[in-house]
Amino acid sequence: MLNILKHPLLTHKLALLRRKETCTKDFRETLGEIAGLMAYEITRDLPVRDISIETPIGICNTQELAMDVVLVPVLRAGLGMVGGISNLLPNARIGHIGMYRDHVTLKPMTYYSKFPDNLPNAIVMVLDPMLATGGSSTDAIQVLKDHGARSIKLVCIVGAPEGVKRIMQDHPDVQIYLAGMDEKLNENGYIVPGLGDAGDRLFGTK
Ligand code: URA
Repeated sequence: MLNILKHPLLTHKLALLRRKETCTKDFRETLGEIAGLMAYEITRDLPVRDISIETPIGICNTQELAMDVVLVPVLRAGLGMVGGISNLLPNARIGHIGMYRDHVTLKPMTYYSKFPDNLPNAIVMVLDPMLATGGSSTDAIQVLKDHGARSIKLVCIVGAPEGVKRIMQDHPDVQIYLAGMDEKLNENGYIVPGLGDAGDRLFGTK
């Protein structure tokens, strides 16, 4: 299912992220902030359990999170989303998956993966800022399912209709979250209008 998150702060910060003048430092900070704002919405349905605690004044019957969360950034641009989300979920464990897009075939290839062992019992958030063709995200999700993940949320910043369609077809059980839904892909597989190459802008490699 597709969830497009709407909030004035998200819209404002996404505009800053998209601007071509935005420098690496501001891009990095803003990407993290957007991911954090998104996490607030995405975690709305996390299960909680009843607990009883003592305050300095008395007993308080309250609740705490009842499930582990695992963050899995898709290297390398997904790394830019980890800080903003783990600020809110400091106990989340973090896996990594490395995919690259073959520039000729545009197909995603897995070159690295390492996950914590609690995947089957955790809510797994796959972090991939740009949902373009959906190739790397769908492969990352499949690798996670092969490692036992059962509850997966795909968290992207900007998506194209092609990528959304692909994930919905390949993984109808996965919740997709976007801060912006764009028009289309261009002939090089970039989202239009998008924000350019998220990895390059995040790490200043271009
Ligand atoms: N990856 C990016 O970084 N940007 C796009 O527009 C598409 C894929």
